[in-house]
Amino acid sequence: NGSYPNESETGQTLVIGSSGFIGRFITEACLDSGRPTYILVRSSSNSPSKASTIKFLQDKGAIVIYGSITDQEFMEKVLREYKIEVVISAVGGESILDQFSLIEAIKNVNTVKRFVPSEFGHDIDRAEPVEPGLTMYEQKSKIRRQIEECGIPYSYICCNSIAAWPYHDNTHPADVLPPLDRFQIYGDGTVKAYFVAGSDIGKFTVMSIDDDRTLNKTIHFQPPSNLLNMNEMASLWETKIGRVLPRVNITEQDLLQRAQEMRIPQSVVAAITHDIFINGCQINFSLDKTTDVEVCSLYPNTSFRTIAECFDDFAKKISDNEKAVSKPVTASNTDIFVPTAKPEAL
Ligand code: NDP
Repeated sequence: NGSYPNESETGQTLVIGSSGFIGRFITEACLDSGRPTYILVRSSSNSPSKASTIKFLQDKGAIVIYGSITDQEFMEKVLREYKIEVVISAVGGESILDQFSLIEAIKNVNTVKRFVPSEFGHDIDRAEPVEPGLTMYEQKSKIRRQIEECGIPYSYICCNSIAAWPYHDNTHPADVLPPLDRFQIYGDGTVKAYFVAGSDIGKFTVMSIDDDRTLNKTIHFQPPSNLLNMNEMASLWETKIGRVLPRVNITEQDLLQRAQEMRIPQSVVAAITHDIFINGCQINFSLDKTTDVEVCSLYPNTSFRTIAECFDDFAKKISDNEKAVSKPVTASNTDIFVPTAKPEAL
């Protein structure tokens, strides 16, 4: 179960949810930064793709600890024995409340210098999506209040959207190629959003955890170069694939209906999609709280990957597989795939 760090080592970081979508980006960035990186892995987790992610991270230097954050006593032992200074949680949407026992453990051990709870989306104290998105936001909000009440040093990461086509029914759109048959455009396609590469979510999160300026702050990711609306996203993708695709409009009512179906997690994504592309939840507020910080202002000399670069990656996946357009890409050494069924028409 891992080795003990040298007495001289500092910055021991524990990442929870490393086998997940966001957690993998965080863990890779943590390892790239040279921090001693511990990852908590549930022994019950037996999916082959998650096992290969864990193996990949282990090969990069991550030290695996088996267990669950719901075991408070165990978590206290881990935090003490491995002298953990930073805890970053990227548990999934269904496990947000599991973090209560983790918070209790961090409070009792009292040596963690920074806790980053699982957020990685919008500012949940500002945004108000329809249900079932709202329930997830309320859970994340309860976690924030508990952290603050316990006096745990924290940073909240509001990294906005992942740089990929924003499918309204897919929690992990960066795992899927942008459309090759038609675009589904929400509303009139003019509401802008910030699309941030997963690797940059990881990189800037890790950069911020030792920074005094981000202590007890909400960190907003608002790179101007990554602010696009859906019409612009569609046109950009067309330049990458060298052809024009039909555009189908998905109305506000369509998205609300998808949300009301209460299919989890798809309806959560529909509710949040509605909040982003109809309500403009990423752009309809100013950073006017004393707790707000913006990542480009903090790190003006570090650039973000552009959407064009991210789309180049997707286009390369297609050119690497000549048959991509006519049949599903078998993602040999990547996690990227084309959905086997076309997204249902709304
Ligand atoms: P995933 O569902 O992909 O992964 C969740 C991870 O958490 C898994 O590794 C899982 O382990 C682990 N986990 C869950 N419960 C426990 C537990 N009790 N103890 C230890 N590990 C646990 O999560 P996502 O990456 O989708 O979500 C992470 C965060 O990012 C969420 O807050 C989500 O809302 C947000 N998000 C933001 C996106 C954006 O575009 N901005 C996109 C997607 C998510 P196991 O393998 O055992 O199941």
